[in-house]
Amino acid sequence: MRFVDVILPLPLQSVYTYILPEEWQNAVMPGFRVIVPFGVRKFYTAVVAEVHERQPEGYVVKAVYEVLDTAPVLLPFQLTFWRWLADYNLCTVGDVYKAALPSGMKLESESRVVLNDEFTGSEVLTEREQQLVSLLSGRKDASLTQLQKECGGGKVLRVVNSLLDKGVLCMDEKLRHGYRPRTETHIRLTPSFFKEDRLHEVLDDLKRAVRQQSLLLKYLELSDAGAALRLQNPGLLAEVSRKKLVEAAGSSMQACRVLESKGILESYPYETGRLRSTEVTDTVGLSPLSEEQQRAYLQIGETFKRYPVCLLHGVTSSGKTEVYIHLINRIMAEGRQVLYLVPEIVLTTQLTDRLYRVFGSRMGVYHSKCSDAERVEIWQKQLSDHPYDIIVGVRSSVFLPFRRLGLVIVDEEHEQSYKQQDPAPRYHARNSAIVLARLCGAHTLLGTATPALETYHNVSTGKYGLVKLTGRYGNVRLPEVEVVDIRELQHKRRMHGPFSPRLLEVMRMALENKEQVILFQNRRGYAPMIECRACGWVPKCKNCDVSLTYHKGLNKMTCHYCGFTCQMPTQCPACEGEELMQLGFGTEKIEALVHEIFPHVSVARMDLDTTRSRSAYERILRGFQEGKTDVLIGTQMVTKGLDFDRVSVVGILNADAMFNLPDFRSYERAFQLMAQVAGRAGRRSRQGLVVLQTKSPELALVSQVREHDYAGLYTQQMEERQMFTFPPFCRLIYVYMKHRQVDTLDRLAAEAGVRLRAVFGSRILGPDAPPVSRIQLLYIRKIVIKVEPGASLSLVRGHLLRIREELLAHPDYRSAQIYFDVDPV
Ligand code: ADP
Ligand code: ZN
Ligand code: ZN
Repeated sequence: MRFVDVILPLPLQSVYTYILPEEWQNAVMPGFRVIVPFGVRKFYTAVVAEVHERQPEGYVVKAVYEVLDTAPVLLPFQLTFWRWLADYNLCTVGDVYKAALPSGMKLESESRVVLNDEFTGSEVLTEREQQLVSLLSGRKDASLTQLQKECGGGKVLRVVNSLLDKGVLCMDEKLRHGYRPRTETHIRLTPSFFKEDRLHEVLDDLKRAVRQQSLLLKYLELSDAGAALRLQNPGLLAEVSRKKLVEAAGSSMQACRVLESKGILESYPYETGRLRSTEVTDTVGLSPLSEEQQRAYLQIGETFKRYPVCLLHGVTSSGKTEVYIHLINRIMAEGRQVLYLVPEIVLTTQLTDRLYRVFGSRMGVYHSKCSDAERVEIWQKQLSDHPYDIIVGVRSSVFLPFRRLGLVIVDEEHEQSYKQQDPAPRYHARNSAIVLARLCGAHTLLGTATPALETYHNVSTGKYGLVKLTGRYGNVRLPEVEVVDIRELQHKRRMHGPFSPRLLEVMRMALENKEQVILFQNRRGYAPMIECRACGWVPKCKNCDVSLTYHKGLNKMTCHYCGFTCQMPTQCPACEGEELMQLGFGTEKIEALVHEIFPHVSVARMDLDTTRSRSAYERILRGFQEGKTDVLIGTQMVTKGLDFDRVSVVGILNADAMFNLPDFRSYERAFQLMAQVAGRAGRRSRQGLVVLQTKSPELALVSQVREHDYAGLYTQQMEERQMFTFPPFCRLIYVYMKHRQVDTLDRLAAEAGVRLRAVFGSRILGPDAPPVSRIQLLYIRKIVIKVEPGASLSLVRGHLLRIREELLAHPDYRSAQIYFDVDPV
C-alpha cells in the first residue's frame, strides 16, 4: 500500500495523507500534482510532498482522485524552499503553494473555466476533449463541480487540465482577457483629424450615420482624447483595440472600416504582452564597460569566491545595469541561468527593451500583469529542456523552477515593495532570493545606490562582500542639491502654493532651454484633506480610520485604503457651514497649478490614478522619454530606476511629509526616496539641479541628502537603531489582530499581550492601535516583539504558533484574525 502526503492550497499547518490507487502506485513522485477530495464534496489540486508506505492511524484515509502529471512540476529544491518560506514567515506551506503556482496549475472545485475564443493553436483534441469543448460552447463559464456532474464524474479534471495546457480553455472571464494573441489591431485618430474643430465638423457630418458617429464618440472616450487634445499631444492618446472599440460602441466592424477609409481613424498592429516565442535575431553585442565598471565587474567575480552575497553599491547612473548585463553574459556562457529581480514599478519597457536587445529570446519576463496563461507557459518552459536562460521578474518570480541557476540579481535591493504585505506568505523577495540562490548553489548580487541599512550592516559585519561604483557613467557629476527653507517663505507669504520662488525660477530656466523637469510629491489626489473652516469637521472613510482625499477630476472623495468613494458635500454635515477648506497638495493639484503657471508647457502626471493599466504607465513614460511632455509630476513612482537624458531639474516639493512619519525607518526611507529621485537629474552630459523644499533645513538628514552622504546617514541611523533597539540590532515580529468588534478585539489583544509577556517578557511592546487602526471594517491591534540577534528562532516560532492556537480556540475569538509579520518593512 502506498500513500502520499500532500500540500493543499489551504492555510493548514500540516500535510494530509491519501491512498494512491493501484494504477498509480509507481507513477508518482514528490512534486507531482494530484487531485484529492477534501471536506464535503470538495476537491483541490494538491502537490505531493512525499510518497511512503506508512499507514496513518485513527482515521479513514481517502484516495487520490487523479494524477495530473507525468513528471514533477516542482523541482526538489523548491519543496525545500517552500518549507523554509513557511517556517521563516510563520505561515503554512499551503499559503506558499497558493502564492507560488499560477491558478491554471491548481484547479479546485470552485475554479471556473471558459473557452478561450482567441485560441489559435492547431493541436489535435482527443474525443473526450472535444466532448468537453462542445459542452462548454455557448456558455459563459462553468465551474468544475458543474462539469463533473454533467460528465458523470469520471476523468473530467484531467481533460480540463490538458485543455488548459493546450490553451483551448482558460481560467475565467477576467483572466481570459489577459490571454491575448501576440499582436492586436489597434486604432487611432489620424494626425489630420487630431484637432478639436475638425472633429466637431466630422461628428456633425455623421449625424445620419449613427453607427459611425457612436463609434467615433466611443473612440474619443476610450482613448482619453479630451486630455490629449487639450495638451495638443497625440502621444497621450490611450491605446484602443479595434475589436474592443467595436464591442464597446455596440457598432460594427464595417462602420469602423468606413471611418478608416475616410481617413479619420487608422489601424495599426500593436504588440501585446504575450511571450515572445519567435527568435529575436537582431540582438546587439555588449557595450564595452568603462574602466571603473570593468574593475567592479572583476571585483564581483573575485568577491563571489569568498562570499555567497555581494552588494554592488553604485551611485545613480553609474551603469549598474551595464555591469549586470556583462555578468549575465558570463553566467550564460557557463551554461547557467540568471534570475534578475526588479521591483514592480521598475519593470518598464525601458529596461526590458534594453535587455531584449542584448539577450533576445533567451530572456523571459515575469511581471504581475502577466495573464495566468502566460505564467503557466513560463513555468512549463522553465521545466522543459529549453528554459529561458534569464528571467527578469518581480517578487513572485522567486517561485519559478530553475534547473541551473547560477546568479540572482536583486536590483534596487532597498525597495520595500520587495516585501509582500498581504496575504500570507508575507515574504521578503530579496531575503528569500538569497536563500533560493543558496539552495541552488548560486550567488546573489544586490545592487543599489542607497542600500538598506540591514544590507550595509551585513557588509560591515563581513557577511556580504562589497563592490563600489563611485562615479557616474561618462563622468557626469552627481546633481547639485539646493535646500530651500519653506518655513521662512511661508511665514513671509512668498510661496506660490507648494512652489518656492527659487523652484519656479529654475523650472522656468530649464523649460526655456528645452530641458525637462520632474516634480516629486508623495500624495496623490487633489487635496489630501478637507476640513470645515467653522467647526473643524473632517470627512472620514466609513470603513477605515482615515480621512478622505479629494479627487477633483472625479469630483469625488476617496479612501486610499479601501477605495470607498463618495460625493464631495456642498456644506458641512456637522454645522452646515459652507466653507470646506481643501488642505494640502496632491499630485493632481500640483498638475493643475503647473498648468496655470506655465500654460504652454505640456505636463504629465504619474501616480496610481493615472497608471491603472500598464499601457497608461508606459505611455506616460514614453511621452516623457520622447520629449512630448516637459514636466513629469508624480508620487514615488517617478523616483524609481528611470533613465531619461534631458532632465535637468528635479523638485522635491515637501520633504517633511516623508520623514515625519511615525516609523523607525522613516529617515532611511526619506533618504532613499530623495537620493533616488535626485538621481534622475542630469544623467547625461551636464550636472543636474535638485531643489529640496523643507521646513527643517537644519536636519542632519537634509545635509546628508545634499552631500550624497550615504555613509553619514548609515552611521547616524545605526546609532539610533542601537540606542532604541531596532533592526539590525534586533529581529522584529509584528503580531496583528483584527476583528469587527472593537471591545472583543481589545480583550483579545490584552490577553495576547499577557500570554506573550509570560514567555517573552520585556521583548513585548503593546498591544497598541496602529496609526491607521481600522481598515475595511476591521479594527486592528498590533503587538511588537523584539528578538535579540542570535536567539533561537525556531523556539520563538513554536511559542507564537502555540499562543495563537490557544487564543483562537477560545469561543469569543473564533472570528478574529491573528497573523504575524516577520521582519516587517
Ligand atoms: P544605474 O542603473 O546605475 O542608475 P544605468 O545602468 O541605467 O545606471 O546607466 C545610466 C546610463 O548610462 C544609461 O543610459 C546607460 O545606457 C549608460 N551607460 C552606462 N554604462 C554604459 C556603458 N558601459 N556603455 C554605454 N552606455 C552606458
Ligand atoms: Zn462644520
Ligand atoms: Zn476606507
